[in-house]
This record gives sequence, C-alpha cells and structure tokens, in this order.
Amino acid sequence: MKEVTYRLLVTGLVQGVGFRPFIYRLARVHELQGWVENRNNGVVVKVTGAGKRIQKFHDDLVSRAPDASSIEAIEFERADHEPFSSFEIRESADIAMGVTEISPDIAVCPDCLADMKAQVHRINYPLINCTHCGPRFTIIRDLPYDRPHTTMAPFRMCPDCRSEFENIMDRRFHAQPVACNRCGPVYRMQSGEGITENLHEILVRIKDSIAEGALLAVKGTGGFHLVSDAFSREGVKKLRRMKQRDGKPFALMFRNVEEARLYVEISPVEEDLLSSWRRPIVLLSKKQEITEGISDGLSTLGIMLPYMPFHHLMFEHLDTPALVMTSGNFSNEPILISNGEVTDQFSGHVDGIITYNREIFNRVDDSVAAVIRQTPVVFRRARGYAPAPIRTGLNLEGILGTGAELTGSFCMGKGQHAIMSQYAGDLKNLETFDFYREIYERFCRMFRFTPELVVSDLHPDYLSTRFALQLVEEHSGIEHLSVQHHHAHIASGMLNSGLEGEVIGFCFDGAGLGTDGSLWGAEVMKAGYLDFERLFHFENISLPGGDKATDEPWRMAVSYLYRSFGDGLWDLKIPLIETFSGKEISNIMSLIDKKINSPLASSAGRLFDAVAAITGLNYKSTYQAEAPMLLESAIDRSEQGCYAFELVDRQISFLHMIRQIVDDIHSGISTGRIAAKFHHTLVELILRLATEIRSQYGLDRVVLGGGTFQNRYLTKKVLDKLESERFEVYLPDRIPVNDQGIAPGQLAIGAHRRGSW
Ligand code: ZN
Ligand code: ZN
Ligand code: FE
Repeated sequence: MKEVTYRLLVTGLVQGVGFRPFIYRLARVHELQGWVENRNNGVVVKVTGAGKRIQKFHDDLVSRAPDASSIEAIEFERADHEPFSSFEIRESADIAMGVTEISPDIAVCPDCLADMKAQVHRINYPLINCTHCGPRFTIIRDLPYDRPHTTMAPFRMCPDCRSEFENIMDRRFHAQPVACNRCGPVYRMQSGEGITENLHEILVRIKDSIAEGALLAVKGTGGFHLVSDAFSREGVKKLRRMKQRDGKPFALMFRNVEEARLYVEISPVEEDLLSSWRRPIVLLSKKQEITEGISDGLSTLGIMLPYMPFHHLMFEHLDTPALVMTSGNFSNEPILISNGEVTDQFSGHVDGIITYNREIFNRVDDSVAAVIRQTPVVFRRARGYAPAPIRTGLNLEGILGTGAELTGSFCMGKGQHAIMSQYAGDLKNLETFDFYREIYERFCRMFRFTPELVVSDLHPDYLSTRFALQLVEEHSGIEHLSVQHHHAHIASGMLNSGLEGEVIGFCFDGAGLGTDGSLWGAEVMKAGYLDFERLFHFENISLPGGDKATDEPWRMAVSYLYRSFGDGLWDLKIPLIETFSGKEISNIMSLIDKKINSPLASSAGRLFDAVAAITGLNYKSTYQAEAPMLLESAIDRSEQGCYAFELVDRQISFLHMIRQIVDDIHSGISTGRIAAKFHHTLVELILRLATEIRSQYGLDRVVLGGGTFQNRYLTKKVLDKLESERFEVYLPDRIPVNDQGIAPGQLAIGAHRRGSW
C-alpha cells in the first residue's frame, strides 16, 4: 500500500478543549504516523499513511471532535512524503503573530463527576477536570495554552497525575489543569469556627450555616459568589441589605432541572441551554414565588445549574434544592476574584468565606441567556462564552471597537474574527473602568493585537470614547472613527447574522447621542454598514432632570402627562398624581417649561418608564431597566387589544396613547391589560413602519437592535407578526442585543469604512 503525507491546519476553537489528544487517538486508530502541534493560528497536523486512511481520519476529525470545540476550517493538502516512525504531540511553537482561540471555561463533565466517586486519588476532589472540561480562559495568562502559562503553574503534578497527563489513551492526557487530592489546589473555609482546609468539614459547615440562613462568599470559576439559601427569608434579606443600592433580581443555582421545574417553566430548548457546557444563567418564566427579595414583581427567574465540581459536592450535602448565587461585589463594582479583596471587603458582611488556592487570572461573571421562540439568545456574554470569537467574512485585523458605557465591553478584530471581551459592567464606576482597561491590555497581549483603527461611540463623554481618544493620542498612526450608537446596534445585528447590503433597522433603546446632537433611542432606519438613514423616530420628549429622569420613571410620566394633558394633568385620578405632592410635580413641570436640565430625547426605554409609572408599577428604579421589566412582567396574556399611535412628520407620537391609558385607568381596566395593550401598540407600530419602508425601498429584511428587545414578550410578538407578513427578521443571538453588542457593531462599520477608503 502506497504511503502518502498530508498536512492539515485546523482553525477554530481547537485549543484547550482536548483537541491534540483527540487528534492523537484518532491517528492511532487509523494507524497513521506523524505529529500534531498547537500554533497560534490553529492546530497543525502532519500525517503519513495510506491515502484512504488519511481520508477517513479527516472525516472523523470533523464528525467526532470534542463537544466544546468548534472547527472553523480545515486546510487539507498533500505534502512531500515524509516517513515517520510514530505519532507524537509536539511542544507548542510560539508564533507571535496570527492567533488562535482561547477556550471559554467549560462546566465539569459527567465523566469527571463519575471519577470523583471512583478514582482513588480524586475521591471528592473539588477541582477535578479533564481535557473535556474545567477552567480555561479564567486561568490562562498567555498563549499557547500550556500549564506554565496558566495559574496552575505553581502546582507540581504528582506521579499519578503526571502519568495520566502523559498517557495518550487517558482522558486527562495533556489536560493542563490536571490535579488531584495529592497534588492540586485545595479549598479552604474561614468562618466563626476558624479556618479549615478539611473538605468534609467545609461541606458540613456550609450545610449547617446555609440551614441557619447564613450568607457565604464562595469562590467560583470567574470570581466570588455571594451565596445563601434561596428559601431562607433571613439569608435573602442579609444579601439584600448588603447590596442595598441595588435591587437587581438574584440568580439562583438549582440542584437539578427536576427541582427547578417546580418553580419555573422549562422547555426542551431551555433545558438544553441550562445544561449545556456553557452553563449560563437562563431567564425562565416563574410558576411560583420562592422567597421575597429574589425577583420581586418580575415574571422571570434567572436560574443556573451547578458547573463546578465543588457546586455538586455542596448540593450533595445541602438540604435546600436552591441557592441564591449572585456576583460577589458591592453594587456595580466588578466581581471580586482575590482572597485578599474578599477578606478585606466582605468580612463583617458574610458569615464565612470559602476559597481555593488556584488564582483566577481573568475575571468573568456568569453569563445570562434566554430562549426566544426556539432560539437561545445571549444577553450577557461572559463565563462559558468569552473570549470565543464571532467568525465573520470581513477583514477586521487591527480594528478595535471600544463599545458604549453602561454595559462596558470592547471588541477587537483578529483576521476575520471579532473577539469580544467579557462583560465588564458600568464604566462610569471607577473600578469597572479600571477592569475594562486591564482586560484590554491582557487581550492585546494574549491575542497579539495592535490597534490600527479605533472605533468609538459618537458620545464624547462616554469613558469608552475617551479611552479611544487616549489610545489615538498615545500611539501615532492610529486612525479614529466615531459611530452613531443606534447605527452600531443595527450593524451588530447584521454582523451577528452575516448580512450584507441594506436592511430595515428597528433600534429601541435607552438613549444614545444622535448625529443632530439630540438624544436618540427609538430609531427606525434604513441601514447598511457604511451608512444609515433615520426614517422615523419617537417624538422628542423632555427628560426632566437629565440622568435623573432615567433613574426616576415618575419624572418621565409627568413629562408625558404634561405634554398630553397640559394643566389638565391636575385633574387626573391616577395613583401617580396622588402619590407625589403638588410641589414635586410642579417642579418637574417648571423644569420642562424653562428647559432647565431637560434634554429632548426620543427614547423607547423612557416611554416604557413613563407607562410603568403612570400605571403605578414603578416610580423610582433601583437597577437598570427595572420599570420596563416590571411592565413586561405585569402583562395579562388574555388581553389582545392595543392603543393608537400617530405619525406626525416622521415622528411617532404616543400622546393619544397616553390619554387612552389614563382613560383605561379611570374606567378601572387592570394594569395587566394596560401593559398588554401597550406592548401590542409597539408591535403594530413596527409592522406598520416596516410595511411602509418595504413599499418605499423594496427592503424586506428587518434587524432588531437595542436593549428593549430583551423584552421576550415584545420580541416574540414582533418576530411572529413580521414573519407572518413575509419579512425576514433578525434578532442577534450570539452577540447581545443590548449595549454589549455596540463594540462588534462598531467593528463591522469600521471594517467597511476602512475598506472603502
Ligand atoms: Zn471532565
Ligand atoms: Zn495528582
Ligand atoms: Fe444602546
């Protein structure tokens, strides 16, 4: 049989996911000789053997690749014949330029959970992992992904681990974080009873303190969690007190899907998402309340399943089926990762601190996702997603999008890959902005990135914009481009779905700076990557108090009511007029009259705020988008009606709707029915405008962008309605529809503008 040699270059998510050992075993099965090697631009394989066998090897490589890997392309070409005596895994070669990918962190696999009860040296080992699972991004300091480049570097493998690491037929062959009870990192607990490193004692102490309503800080994969029994009023209360400025709903970790099903609806697609290796927090519809203070007033609960071996060990001991697991931080600060920080900041607030002595290098929050119709959609890209790239067909090399502000995140282009940073949080917070800059520097190093073109938001005061300008100032030869916020949202949706040409864009959002200097936030546009045209927008309305109007929905309500009723506002019999004093209300009216700190805006978010406050659901927000979330949660699904809207010279006016809502309140229509009719009004509006634009421009692809489309009720109705009218509708799913998606949108626009220079 004639022997031939082939060279393969496999690109995609193929490092840190057991790919080289997989190749090795495959080569052995097909009796091929040669080698495999990690390069910065992918995995290179050279094989010598019978042609037929090499073909079979190639086919298996595609069809049997490990779960968490994702092959983007395989270059497969004949090479000069080279005889090899064996197949081997070669040491990584550092190729400074060119890049391959760093795997996101992977939830512990079923085989490891079984090993945890069977392998002598790993009985209950709380950091067990293998080539198919375990920490990745969070422990990687640099590429290539080898143990010395991770925070496992200080741990010396014991002879057993070493032999598994070196045994090609073992599942832990070349598993970089391999460890066991004898040689690996250990857990440690500090509480009123002192410090212990005895795992059994830790688990018993956790069980006891959780049962007593204690609050614990527990080190996770990408940072610390604050943990309490989800069924303990005491525990939840303590947690609320600690996060006093922040009323955000808490995420829960359930022991398993069956227990969770008692409290939330879980469809098959949602179950797959919950139990996927990414293990995000999944937003699910509530069946019944658990404990006051977890997600008051909301119809959804954010739930995740155990993803670390230690989580499984905890649930083996705990009586409760669910824990509150919220980011270990004070509100709006980055999630804490170091034992020192946690001890400094949390001692006195928590009843115990549980940690382990493997360092978290890259800080990553839990990701948040939901299923809309049958599609998983990610709202916060962090653990399990970051830093996996979005593959595009564009030349993105050297382009940096610095993103927006409230949902800080940047995106860098390497070749055709858009690499999004993990979610960083609100950049206006100093610690968060430091974190953003820190990850920017780390990403530059890890991905060998040098900026050539920096794209920022149009808003000069965003810290992300200032960061962009600073980069341009510090390094000569960097080009700078400003992109309008809502254009970036639509471009982001186009990039997500690989669209070219022109689309109809509906961008419903909080607020972003428009090209005319006013605040925008509800834009209907005709858009391509290069340019856009704003065709319709919500009528401009005063934001009395500026930023304060965003935090206090009742101000928006007064603004809309004043506009609709003038001084007739005083005669309205609605709870808002009775709740606030005449003085408070007339103060707002005079801010508007005198145009003092009352910028005009066309914001969808603020319209939701106004309606939520007029119906008495929410007057002051304690977290972002609280009012819109309460309004969505209030919907009475039996109501089918809707309100009126008017088009006045390309502006969409809701003044008539506001009057109808007040009429409904006066005639005793329930808040749930009003909320439903309000949502339906927006659906009808979108259909009407899409139809009008289609007839005028012949476009029938619709892209949705902006945080408003995280509203599952609205988005599902819009998708159903537009599709039934034969529109193609695109909701971004891999890129968040909210402001975390701004940076990739900036990148895509930058790539096209650069291409046309
Ligand atoms: Zn495993
Ligand atoms: Zn060991
Ligand atoms: Fe936005």
